[in-house]
Amino acid sequence: MADDEARTATKESADAKQQEPAGGQTGTDQETGDTVTEKQALHEGGTGDGQVTPEAPGSTPAGERAEISNFEIVNHYFNRAAERIGLRDDVAAVLRSAYREVQVQIPVTRTDDRIHVYTGYRVQHNGARGPYKGGVRFHPEVDLDEVRALASLMTWKTAIAGIPYGGAKGGVNCPAGELEAHEKEKVARSFMSKIDKVLGPTRDIPAPDVGTNAQTMAWMMDEYGKLHGHTPAIVTGKPISLEGSYGREAATGRGLVYMYREAAAALGIRPSESRFTVQGFGNVGSWASRIMQELGAKLVAASDAFGAVRSDEGLDAEALASHVADGGRLRDFEGGEEISAVELLETECEVFIPAALGGMIHKSNAERLRCKLVVEGANSPTTPAADEILEDRGVFVVPDVMANAGGVVVSYFEWAQNLQHFRWEEREVNEKLGRIMRRAYREVAARAEKDEVPFRLAAYEVGIERVADAARTRGYIS
Ligand code: NAD
Repeated sequence: MADDEARTATKESADAKQQEPAGGQTGTDQETGDTVTEKQALHEGGTGDGQVTPEAPGSTPAGERAEISNFEIVNHYFNRAAERIGLRDDVAAVLRSAYREVQVQIPVTRTDDRIHVYTGYRVQHNGARGPYKGGVRFHPEVDLDEVRALASLMTWKTAIAGIPYGGAKGGVNCPAGELEAHEKEKVARSFMSKIDKVLGPTRDIPAPDVGTNAQTMAWMMDEYGKLHGHTPAIVTGKPISLEGSYGREAATGRGLVYMYREAAAALGIRPSESRFTVQGFGNVGSWASRIMQELGAKLVAASDAFGAVRSDEGLDAEALASHVADGGRLRDFEGGEEISAVELLETECEVFIPAALGGMIHKSNAERLRCKLVVEGANSPTTPAADEILEDRGVFVVPDVMANAGGVVVSYFEWAQNLQHFRWEEREVNEKLGRIMRRAYREVAARAEKDEVPFRLAAYEVGIERVADAARTRGYIS
C-alpha cells in the first residue's frame, strides 16, 4: 500500500508544482512534523512477506533491469536462511520489517524557476547491534520499496562484517544526473533538515550511495551542524578536508578485491592472470578495476548507463577512470571498441563484477554470463531466478551482503576517527579493512562448508543469527 503510494509520488514528482506528501499508513512525528511510519514488525501487516513474484521467462530484455522488487529479493534470501536456521516465525516477522520509516517532501526551485517536488525517505531497519547505518541514494527510481530493501541488506551486511551497527538506507527520487551542483546542494540540505531528528552520531549515520558523493556528505554535515553544532560523525564518506577518512572513497572497490582474492584462491584462479568485466564503472566499479589492475588482472570490458566498451588486450582502468572524471562516456573511450550492454555480459572472463544497480542479472540474461565467478559490487544485482541459474551452471557468487561491505567498514573507521578527533594513515585503514573482509569471507566460507549451502545463504544465516542474538540479549525481543 505505502509502496504504491510512494511510486505514484515518484511519477508525479517530476514536474509537479505542488504536491501533498504521499501518506500511507502514517502518522505525523510530534517533533518534526514529518510524515512518519514507525512500527514494530509484529503490528505490521502487508509488507515484505518475502513472496517473490516469479519472473516470467523473457519478461525483461537481456540488457535491462528486471522488474522485480528489491525488497522481494532481499526477503526471499532472508526467508530461506531464516527457515534453515529454524528462526521462529514471530521473530522472523520482527527482523524482516523495518523499525522506522520516514518520508519527507523536498520542494526545490530549479534553474527553470519552477518548484520541483521530490520525495525523500529514510528507513531504519534494525538497530539491535548499534546505531543505524546506511547510504543515501539520489536517483529518479528511488522508492520506498527500494529503500526498505537496501536498509534490510545493511542490517545483515554490518552483522556479517562484524561491525557495531544496525542497518538503514535513505534516498531521494530526484534526477541526480540532470541536477546542477547548486540544485543537488538544495536537495541534500533540504533532505537533511527534514530527517535530522531521527539521525545522530549514536542514532543513525548516513553515507554516500548512487548519485551522492563526498561533496553531498559535506553539505549534509554542514546542514546538520547548523541545527546541532559541528558534528563530523553525523555522516561518513566526507571529503578528507572535512574529517573524512583516507581510503574511504576506494573502500567498497578495495573490499571487493579482498573478497576476490579469497575466492580466486579457493577456485584456483591466479589474480595476476585473470580477466574481469565491470558493469557500472562508477565509484565502486572504477575503484575495483584500478585495484584489480594493480594485481595484474586485465579489465576486458566495462559499462556505464550509456553504453559499454571492450578490449581483449585490456582497457587501462586508470585512463578509463580519468576519461569518466573528465565527463566522458565509456563508449567514447578510445582505448577500446564500443559494444552493447548484452555483449558486455557475454564477454569471456574469469570474474564479472556487477557494480551498477539492482536486478541487472535476471532470468533472461544469467545464461549469457561467460565467467567463473561473480563478485557483487552492486546491491541486489542478481534476482533469485538468476541466482539459481548461476548455481546450476557452477558459477561461484560472492554475494553483495558480504562482498560490498568495504564501504561501510571504512565508514565505521571514519566514524571511530571522528568520535576521537583522530586520523589514521591510509595504509592502516586498508590493512584493517583487509582483516575484516578476510575474516567475513572465512566465517561465511566455514558456514557454507558446514551447512553445504551456497555463500549467499550461509552469509544470511550468519547475519540473521547475530542480529537475533543481539535483539534477544538486549531484551528487544524475548
Ligand atoms: P555510482 O553512481 O558512482 O556508479 C554507478 C554506475 O553505474 C555509473 O557508472 C552508472 O553510469 C552505471 N549505471 C547505471 N545504470 C546502468 C546500467 N543500466 N548499465 C550499466 N551501468 C549502469 O554508484 P556507486 O556508489 O558506484 O554504487 C554502485 C552500486 O554499488 C550500487 O548498487 C550501490 O548501492 C552499491 N554500493 C555502493 C557502495 C559505495 O560505497 N559507494 C557501497 C556498497 C554498495
